[in-house]
Amino acid sequence: MTAKTSVVKLEGVWVTYHETLALRDVDMEIEDGEFLGLIGPNGSGKTTLIRVILGLVKPDRGRVEVFGVPPDRLGARHHLIGYVPQRSQGDWSFPVSVMDVVLMGRYGRLGLFRRPGKADREAAMRALEDVQMQDFARRQLAELSGGQQQRVLIARALATEPKLLLLDEPAAGVDAYGEEKFYELLQGLKEQQGLTIVVVTHDIAVVSAYVENLACLNQTLYTHAPPSEVITAGTLEKVYGCEVELLAHGRIPHRVVEEHDGHGGHNVPGGHG
Ligand code: ADP
Ligand code: MG
Repeated sequence: MTAKTSVVKLEGVWVTYHETLALRDVDMEIEDGEFLGLIGPNGSGKTTLIRVILGLVKPDRGRVEVFGVPPDRLGARHHLIGYVPQRSQGDWSFPVSVMDVVLMGRYGRLGLFRRPGKADREAAMRALEDVQMQDFARRQLAELSGGQQQRVLIARALATEPKLLLLDEPAAGVDAYGEEKFYELLQGLKEQQGLTIVVVTHDIAVVSAYVENLACLNQTLYTHAPPSEVITAGTLEKVYGCEVELLAHGRIPHRVVEEHDGHGGHNVPGGHG
């Protein structure tokens, strides 16, 4: 095998909710084995794009293929997509054990009336081991820290035995150190399990050390390239205004600063981090 195959392919995708335009003419290809960071301001369509890939949102126009077929035609192969939703979408204060949460990831593979069996429990346990949470299987989810809960949600996504893992702002609320550990974990999973990973994030500086490509979205896709190219292209400032965040982490390439000076008079706040 020489040529890389696409796991996700979007062509001319438009999405509107009632009157609100969410995605405009998005073309995008995600290659098998790619680790992609998806960035963009609030309301730029990141979650919508993830939901389009999942088949939960139908485009008004355009074509979507996941593993070579429209996502709503994946049928039994839908388990090939693992999904970690944005945390604000879930209420995790109700009493439920870690194992039960991870087993939820198996329901897509179970028939409607089948109860989880030995194979499901084993897959759930393997997924917990993948995120080093196996010792917490019997604990209540609500008792865990934010970072531990996040790992459990990843285990739930891994329990489906996916090939494509979509994570929507998984590191939100995790401190910078925890975030680095978190991306290391994802990188390890990608390598061990041959996953393709798309992670929605705001923290470009941290994610750039781990991902192969950054996709910059603001209704339409502005760029999809290695972080070094995206960061120096000036695209981020136009689309995202993220230069402050980059500086705060002290990892900013000099060229960005120089380019920034070129815009004249735009002060960069110091004293962060
Ligand atoms: P992001 O994840 O980048 O913050 P979203 O995809 O959630 O962006 O939202 C893109 C745009 O679509 C925003 O303007 C948002 O208000 C709107 N939107 C998202 N979901 C809905 C919905 N279910 N109904 C109406 N508008 C929505
Ligand atoms: Mg979102």
